[in-house]
Amino acid sequence: MSGDPCDRCEELLQDFLDRTLTDVEWQEAEGHLAGCDFCARRYRFEESLRRYVRTSAVERMPPGLMAKLDELRGLDASV
Ligand SMILES: [Zn+2]
Repeated sequence: MSGDPCDRCEELLQDFLDRTLTDVEWQEAEGHLAGCDFCARRYRFEESLRRYVRTSAVERMPPGLMAKLDELRGLDASV
């Protein structure tokens, strides 16, 4: 690890988007995003990408596939 705050921010970004950071990490990421154009842009990109993937995945998914996925997930969990 280089100690680069942007690397650290990238590391936190997925959890930031998932809203699963601790308070301390959240403040760290939010503070960095507020002051770093590069990471703020990356954050907005990731955020819109997620929204796009989520909506298009649901729209394009044929009926029954969702149930199939749940089934597979269930099998996976039982291993
Ligand atoms: Zn940064």
